[in-house]
Amino acid sequence: MEEVQLKDAAERLEGSPPGVILEWAVENFHPRLALTCSFGAEDIVLAHLLKQIQPDARIYFINTGLHFSDTLETRDIFTRRYGINLEEFRPSMSLADQDAVHGERLYERDSDRCCAIRKVEPLRRALAGLDGWITGLRRDQAPTRKNIKVVEGHRVGDDRLIAKINPLAAWNEREVWDYIRLHGIPYNRLFDQSYLSIGCAPCTRPVQPGEDPRSGRWAGKEKTECGLHTFTKKTG
Ligand code: SF4
Repeated sequence: MEEVQLKDAAERLEGSPPGVILEWAVENFHPRLALTCSFGAEDIVLAHLLKQIQPDARIYFINTGLHFSDTLETRDIFTRRYGINLEEFRPSMSLADQDAVHGERLYERDSDRCCAIRKVEPLRRALAGLDGWITGLRRDQAPTRKNIKVVEGHRVGDDRLIAKINPLAAWNEREVWDYIRLHGIPYNRLFDQSYLSIGCAPCTRPVQPGEDPRSGRWAGKEKTECGLHTFTKKTG
């Protein structure tokens, strides 16, 4: 799809319910379309919606090898319950090789490099076969996300244009949890232990009342994004 068509779709679909935005994505990009799912609250809402619209829709999991066991358990329960044939992407470099090359606990010394190896590299490979990429980003999650559109053009690796689709861009946290509870969707139990945003175990901590929702990620560091949503180049 051309850049101008994506821009037009973004304008037309702004304000539409997430299901309508997903229907548009499926119609235009399936099977070269996937949702990247880390089994956070937004991702399970989208996976649940997407499964109803297109039962064989592609759902990708970037397995860094450093997730909480609770996250992996959620992955297993969720995929079993909804009959999802999850596609996993792992880093080319094993954790053992990373430890040997860069030293153990790289995330403590150079979290950007660690994310580049364990998250961005496998995502690049995952996106290589796609024209449409669905994410669970919301505008009120972080200042870096406040201007996202429901449909965006992004240039990836070889300068190829893909559509990045953010069906929950306009939703708030309450709407996400209302949907999860309404449909009885199994979720990561860490959310009941004051975790608000769940990534790799070494870089995630619970959030205290009144703290910024993203403050539980890379606590004590300037870092606020892992690179998954910043390595592509947004057009327009
Ligand atoms: S979130 Fe932490 S452990 Fe996970 S890839 Fe990034 S730096 Fe490494």
